[in-house]
Amino acid sequence: MTDTQKFGQALEEEKKSLKEQLSTIAKPSEEVPGTWEAIQVGTENEADPNDQADHLDEYQENRAIVDVLNARYQEVTAALERIEAGSYGTCEVGGEIIEEDRLEADPAAKTCKTHLQ
Ligand SMILES: [Zn+2]
Repeated sequence: MTDTQKFGQALEEEKKSLKEQLSTIAKPSEEVPGTWEAIQVGTENEADPNDQADHLDEYQENRAIVDVLNARYQEVTAALERIEAGSYGTCEVGGEIIEEDRLEADPAAKTCKTHLQ
């Protein structure tokens, strides 16, 4: 029996922490609800072209980080939805019960070890 409550709690905590990290460099997307997009830090007000370039670098870096955090945020959210739906802990490919240690390593896991890509 999968300890859904334990993994649910871990997922909630991870979601909270992802949200905190994302909220410093991203904002919730208006186009795709539930996702995040990187925010651009004030390039318009910067007179010095070097400073402008720095901001652009920072933005590119932020975008790369936001991509990673956002992808994880989607996985965690989907896992929480599976808990709600009662399908959590079941392999999405073969329908097997996902191994406990696999969920320990990644509570958002969608597949059992056999169907791990
Ligand atoms: Zn499987």
